[in-house]
Amino acid sequence: MSKKVQGNDSFQRINYLYQISKQMCTKNPGLSSYYGNLIVNIAKKNVLKIHPDIKRQICKTCRCMLIANVTAKTKIRSKKKSKIIEWTCNTCGAKRSIPVEKNKDYSLWVDRPEAVVEVIN
Ligand SMILES: [Zn+2]
Repeated sequence: MSKKVQGNDSFQRINYLYQISKQMCTKNPGLSSYYGNLIVNIAKKNVLKIHPDIKRQICKTCRCMLIANVTAKTKIRSKKKSKIIEWTCNTCGAKRSIPVEKNKDYSLWVDRPEAVVEVIN
């Protein structure tokens, strides 16, 4: 239990940086990458697992936020029996594929009010 509380500060920071990064990605991709990088570094330093919903939105190459049809193109492909969503980062062109099963509750968590520490307008 105490371990969970300890990690809370870092989770809140990650959440906060995530909000900024998401808002920056259309206006300033460079800054979005910077905050994306910070998120990954905080998580590494504190040995935290970034929530899969957030992790999926950070480009592995440039660490910009990937937002469907805004900062990334998405394509649904059928692979064998399963479907995958292919994401192409508009900033650096990197591609990543995410199985649809994993996307079942996609975007739900980050859109829940409790996931938001502070929304910057
Ligand atoms: Zn990228």
